[in-house]
Amino acid sequence: MSTAVREVSVFGDAIQYFNEAAANLEIEEGMRRILTHPSRQVIVSIPFQRDNGEIEVYTGYRVQYNFTRGPAKGGIRYHPGVTLDEVTALAFWMTWKCATVDIPFGGGKGGVTCDPNVLSLGELERITRRYAAELVEIVGPDKDVPAPDVGTNPQTMAWFMDTYSMHVRQSMPGVVTGKPLEIGGSRGRVEATGRGVMLVTAAQLATEKRTLKGQRIVVQGFGNVGSVAAMLLQEHGATIVGISDVTGGYHNEKGIDVKSAIAYAQEHHSLDGFRGGERISNAQTLELPCDILVPAALEKQLTGENAARVQARLVVEGANGPTTPEADHVLHSRGITVVPDILANAGGVTVSYFEWAQDRMGYFWKESEVNERLKDILEHNFEAIHSMSKARNVTLRTAAYMTAIDRVVKSLKIRGVYA
Ligand code: GLU
Repeated sequence: MSTAVREVSVFGDAIQYFNEAAANLEIEEGMRRILTHPSRQVIVSIPFQRDNGEIEVYTGYRVQYNFTRGPAKGGIRYHPGVTLDEVTALAFWMTWKCATVDIPFGGGKGGVTCDPNVLSLGELERITRRYAAELVEIVGPDKDVPAPDVGTNPQTMAWFMDTYSMHVRQSMPGVVTGKPLEIGGSRGRVEATGRGVMLVTAAQLATEKRTLKGQRIVVQGFGNVGSVAAMLLQEHGATIVGISDVTGGYHNEKGIDVKSAIAYAQEHHSLDGFRGGERISNAQTLELPCDILVPAALEKQLTGENAARVQARLVVEGANGPTTPEADHVLHSRGITVVPDILANAGGVTVSYFEWAQDRMGYFWKESEVNERLKDILEHNFEAIHSMSKARNVTLRTAAYMTAIDRVVKSLKIRGVYA
């Protein structure tokens, strides 16, 4: 691989985190080799008809990174920037995320290179159904279980589940999670990732003898993760001093009314024109004075270039891979604590696990039960990772990877290598 390619590779960056953590564990070279290779990468062509009758062909991916601890698990992303490299990195992160919270899944991720904002509902349905049909043999409740990610939602999951069910000629709610409640979704799933961000932020603050009350927080990204996290953080007493989406940032020292921002974004399909704060750029949002910064948009937002200007003392990663390894070192050297993605945003996949379990039982839990179990899992694993970070004098990220890698390696050794 040339240096230029290596530099832009998201997967290449992700592997660096793995290597840093693996260096603290005594794992054999063979195990390390297995875990730094994706099990399976699938590329499919998705021909579909535009509303004007024209036929287009998009490209879709599904990467099943690892199956050691259970079926592959992870979302499907619809975004113009989707590449095989990005999907592989995201599937890699899912592997460690599922192991970090100790749920019985491997890691996977899918994506279609497209811009859902310029496609009609009918076009999105046709793309989703053809994509699902192309993956029929390799997904399933015991094989690989997709879920929503950037650009997809419960409706996308409903189309996917229906298409899969038609092909296998029986209703299969457990093939995807993040479904609407009416067809086997779980209560609390839509809010789960944002709720998890709030819970781990509170857990980290508790170790500093602080609470959310009075914390000034900036949230980058106002999709399913950022908007819910901002709302719940505010509900628990924090002041949201900055928010942003693709159209730009909004800054208000006195606090943004998150509920009205959510209502505005729903009505206008973005925050563009929102008057609840002074208009700034997306880049400025990351550098606002605050106590806590929650990057909840896309990967590679905090880089070697801007990390020195971050003013928060705590970064909680709502997105997957928002901090490059270079930025991570800058933040660490500046004494800024980072709660890593594979722990901070694991609330979503944790409730996906609950949904999958409920679908298999055919028995559904109350929302309070879902939220309580989510809190239990996140707090328990946060505590273990926090203690390891203190005991081994490593960052929370390294401690999370160490915990996850150790769990996967133990399972891998017991299963053995089939060769
Ligand atoms: N896309 C979400 C994530 O990155 C959820 C995955 C899932 O629920 O399977 O964690």
